[in-house]
Amino acid sequence: MADALPYTDADPTVTELLATHPNLKMDGVCGLMMDGVSLTAIANAVGTPTWVISADTLRTRMARLKNAMQAAGLDVSLHYAVKANDHLAILSLLGKEGFGADIVSGGELARALKAGIAANKIVFSGVGKSDAELQEAIAHGVGQINVESAEELDIIAAIAQKLGRTATITLRINPDVDAKTHAKITTGLAANKFGIPYEEAASLYARASTLPGINAVGFATHIGSQILSVAPYRAAYARMAELVQSVRSQGLSVSVMDCGGGLGISYRTEVEGQPEALAGAMKAELGHLGLKLAIEPGRWPIGPAGVLLGQVILNKARGAEAPFYVLDTAMNDLLRPSMYDAWHGIVPLSAQDAATPAIPAHVVGPVCESGDTFARDRLLPPLQRGARVAILDTGAYGAVMSSTYNSRPMAAEVLIDNGTWHSIRPRQKRDALWHTETVPAHLTAGNT
Ligand SMILES: *Cc1c(COP(=O)(O)O)cnc(C)c1O
Repeated sequence: MADALPYTDADPTVTELLATHPNLKMDGVCGLMMDGVSLTAIANAVGTPTWVISADTLRTRMARLKNAMQAAGLDVSLHYAVKANDHLAILSLLGKEGFGADIVSGGELARALKAGIAANKIVFSGVGKSDAELQEAIAHGVGQINVESAEELDIIAAIAQKLGRTATITLRINPDVDAKTHAKITTGLAANKFGIPYEEAASLYARASTLPGINAVGFATHIGSQILSVAPYRAAYARMAELVQSVRSQGLSVSVMDCGGGLGISYRTEVEGQPEALAGAMKAELGHLGLKLAIEPGRWPIGPAGVLLGQVILNKARGAEAPFYVLDTAMNDLLRPSMYDAWHGIVPLSAQDAATPAIPAHVVGPVCESGDTFARDRLLPPLQRGARVAILDTGAYGAVMSSTYNSRPMAAEVLIDNGTWHSIRPRQKRDALWHTETVPAHLTAGNT
């Protein structure tokens, strides 16, 4: 399991972490820099906690995905998985580059459209789409809906007919392969809630092909997230290829295969998933079928593009025991360590701090939960009160999972683009925490 603790090898040093993060450099004077911009300068200007995203990294990584597919001679559409990071600035950047979007809710549909992504470049995935969401998606003419069950197929057909439209669909098939990732992020096993059982796929596709209001074009599969090896992809695509051939042999037409997302990144010492290897698996298993292919990457392009800046509130010494560094950022900002036991690199912003010999420490947030822990027994340079750190690889499944638990305002967000930083969300004002709450008159202060 990619995210599981404990690790048996030594934690990577700051130098080793920086070597796998080309957008980060340690400058002797300015400290940690992202794309040539001092992260200390950003923290001084907007405070902490603050999310910082590198636009260049996102562009470079999306381009690498696209180039890998082209180099393999594949005709592939790229639909960015909006749920990884749904900020309008991110979606606008991707829309400008011509990418499509993979969405899982009406809210994400609205965001993608607002960011200027054309409806026909939007794919609607998701295990439970409400009638209202489907209506909206069909009315806007989304390019494709990935159907998760026989029940949903009928609902879509009924809604499309009522609107006088035809919904273009694929069936999302659960290929029952083990992506060997964390239990909370695997989706392609028969035991998971996602997708249509493989055995039911062919007959349901035959039915979909005759349903009024439905234009059935093919299949989709998505086996999980943070996948580092190409083997589960190959296994899944091989099963999907068999399915395509068996359905075609019944005289049905199949023109689309949506190959899902899930490519993993290097959080610790892993070798990240390689787009070229993914393209190789797609070509080997599906390349001969004359299909229009698509992928839905989320974590891979945006994860390494982001850091979360925090500051040490307290260095809680405990004699001979590892100290607790209590940060001003917490699980309400970055949930992944609490939720998935995720390992995130932590690098001091100050070059002096970073150069101090490491000792084991626990890094925690101030939220009233023991699970509010970013790192346990982590080898880190000693950090004094006031020291600032960057928590690495937080561009994906970071800000999007934040809450205001413990009445902690949503953190600020900054985008670095071409050497200049822009505020893309101010820190939430305290009264915004309750501005939509109302108190019944008999409970208001001063009422007798
Ligand atoms: C979450 C999700 C993705 C993106 O997964 P990543 O691991 O972030 O690449 C793609 N497709 C579907 C259907 C998803 O649910």
